[in-house]
Order: sequence, then structure tokens, then C-alpha cells
Amino acid sequence: MKVLVLNCGSSSVKFQVIETSLEMIEANADLTLARGAVEKIGLSDSRLSLDVPDRKPHQEIAEILEHRAAIERVLKVLVNPEHGVLGNVAEIEAVGHRVVHGGEKFASSVLVNPEVEAMIEECVVLAPLHNPHNLRGLTAARSLLPGVPHIAVFDTAFHQSMPPKAFVYGLPYELYTRQAIRRYGFHGTSHRFVSIRTANLLRRPIEDLRIVTCHLGNGCSMAAVDRGHSVDTSMGFTPLEGLLMGTRCGDLDAAIVPWVLAMEEVTLAQLNAMLNKHSGLYGVSGVSSDMREIEAACATGNKRACLALDIFCYRIRKYVGAYAAAMGGLDAVTFTGGIGENSPLIRATTLAGMDFFGIELDEDANRNAPRGKEVLVSRPGTRVAVAVIPTNEERVIARDTVRVLGGVMPSFAVAGTDAPR
Ligand code: AMP
Repeated sequence: MKVLVLNCGSSSVKFQVIETSLEMIEANADLTLARGAVEKIGLSDSRLSLDVPDRKPHQEIAEILEHRAAIERVLKVLVNPEHGVLGNVAEIEAVGHRVVHGGEKFASSVLVNPEVEAMIEECVVLAPLHNPHNLRGLTAARSLLPGVPHIAVFDTAFHQSMPPKAFVYGLPYELYTRQAIRRYGFHGTSHRFVSIRTANLLRRPIEDLRIVTCHLGNGCSMAAVDRGHSVDTSMGFTPLEGLLMGTRCGDLDAAIVPWVLAMEEVTLAQLNAMLNKHSGLYGVSGVSSDMREIEAACATGNKRACLALDIFCYRIRKYVGAYAAAMGGLDAVTFTGGIGENSPLIRATTLAGMDFFGIELDEDANRNAPRGKEVLVSRPGTRVAVAVIPTNEERVIARDTVRVLGGVMPSFAVAGTDAPR
């Protein structure tokens, strides 16, 4: 079936049309027919781009004021006889939606109905920067395509299998029960996809494997995937916690927050922006949030760029050790995301000298890892495999859409992972 995948942000709608089915999932043979985005929604020069394999990319500039109009434009271009890939809109048999936060309400992808929409609305408080836009897109798409099922796929759902010892913070317990402050984790679709693909690459059942997955993009997170279940992850209540990221600080002594508020002339909003937008690779290096530029600056001797790089890799390395301990062993480390997939330097620096741990990189395989391919970059026969797996969150969304409709969508909830109430 043809599934339209929608990912609605504050001023953008990203989309893909994916041909998939339960059989195609089994054979890992689903096809991306088209991908694109509407950007700068709300401005007079909004831009729609469409990429269809083996065709010249297509672009349109027009005023698109809100998400409903953006999705209308997407549907229009998809059926355009010259640029599109569909004969008519009725070829879309289902729509899969990315929803960032499902709180504790969703431990699986679900068919959207008015009750589910209301529950997603209740999660807005947990992700005020994301869920409202996801919801706006969902509501618009449901009214534009009322005759097909809409499925919501949550970034947080895969991590709902974490045990309380991993998700409860050492704060007064009422902050958990009253305010739902706990670790949720994000990038769940990516961690899930690459852990399954790693097992496939190793030709071993995922039920036998303890995998540490490293999603290293502009946002970065890691997960401990124990026999197919996420048992810990580095992002927390928000995506700010954990690794050093493009512009986010990651792990921090919480006492720094009130200290900076007291000592520097900043408002709470400015401090929030400082932690989320002016920190990380950018804040430490003063060069850029983009890893390619950091690597280039370090290569020409910029000490702060080198320091940012060192902090970045050191933190990943610490989490590898921590998660191996958490799972009581380690079979594979998987790299994904723009940095994880494309930077041999980051993979090599992170895992250097970890042979005591059973991790030995194959230098040639690491340096020459082909782009866009699933490959092993560890020495043959080493105890811990190191894999590079291109992530594909849209594909997970399309696949879950098919699974929900086929009645074979598993829940990620694990018995015994409730915290006391
Ligand atoms: P993503 O958010 O997954 O698109 O990843 C974006 C990040 O990947 C940026 O920091 C890019 O600089 C980084 N990136 C992309 N290609 C490379 C590369 N060849 N080497 C190092 N970093 C890269």
C-alpha cells in the first residue's frame, strides 16, 4: 500500500510517499516513491520541494500560511501529472504521522481517533515546542483525507520499556506523580529501526543481543537496547539531557542553572535558549554547530574546536561503558544519524583503545564505510560488533502504519516497568 508519511514542525511539513506492506517489511524491500518538504510556512516565500528518484528535484515558491494549506499543496504536487507520483489522491491508503511526545499514554503506535487526538493534546504540556505542530498537521490531514486511516507514531514510545530505576529522577517523588517529570527519551523510532537492522546485519535474533545505539545528528542520543527493549536512553524529560549536541549542552550539574540565573544578567527564557541553542558543539567551539565544520577547524589547529570534538566523543564513550554495565554485557555498538553515519573520525575517536572491552575497529572498513549502506566496521571475529546503519524514521512510520492496520503492532510496554503511584 502507498503510505503518506507526515512530519509537521513549527514552520515545516516534511513528507514521504512510501510503498510498503507486511511482505515488503519482511523482505526489507519497501520503496520511497517521493520525498519532500514545505518550509517557511507562514511567510510569503514558503518553499515546497519534491524529490522523486531518478528525476530532477522540483521546487515551488508560494505564500503558504498554515499547515492545512501546506498539506493541500503537498497533495496537489503529488498528483501533478508532470512532477507527481500518484494518479490521484485516492491512491494514498493510509497516513502515518510523526508525533514527538506520547508521554506515558502511548507505548506503541496507534490508529488515531478523536480519543487518541485528545490524549495527544494532553501531552502538549510535555512538548510545547513540538506536539502542537504535530497535532495541527494531524487534524488538517484527517480533514483533508477523511476516508483513510491515520496512524500516530511517537518518538517516545519505544523507550516506554525502561524500568523505573532508569526513568525516575532523584527528585521529590511528587514531581513525578504530579508533574509527570521523568525520563522519556526521544529518537525512539531511530533507535528501534537501527537495533533491528543491526540484528539483521549480524544474522542473529535481536532477542539474543545487547546493543548500544548511537543516534548522532544535530540532536544526539544513545540507547541501551537489551534483547529488543530500550532499557535506558540518554535524553531525558526533554531532549536536552545526555550527549553533547549541535547546540544543546547535554548532561549538566543542575545547580549551574540557578547559579547562572543569580550571577549573570539573564532571564529564564535567555537561559533556556543558552542551554538549548547556544551550547554544545557551537557553544564550546565558538565555530559552528555543524560537525563537518568542527572537524575542519580542528584539523587546522583550532583548539576549542578540538576540545568540542573531544568532549563529544568522550561522552559517547562513557555512555557505551555505562550501558554495557546496565545490560550486563555488550554485543554491538551501532552508529547512525548524520555524524554517526558519515564521520569515521568520530567513530574511531570514540572507540579508540576499547579493545579491553572487546571493541576493535577495522580501520580500513571504518574509513571506507560506503555512504548510505548498512556495514560492519569492526574487525571480523571481535566480541563486540560495530555497525553503521543509516537511519530512516519515515520508513519506521510507514511500517508501523502497515503494522497497526494489519493488527501486528507490538506494544513496547514491558510488564513490571510501572513506577509506584
Ligand atoms: P542530522 O541531524 O542527522 O542530519 O545530522 C547533522 C549532522 O551531521 C551535522 O552536524 C553535520 O555536520 C553532520 N555530518 C554530515 N555529514 C558529515 C560528515 N561527512 N562528517 C562529519 N559530520 C557530518
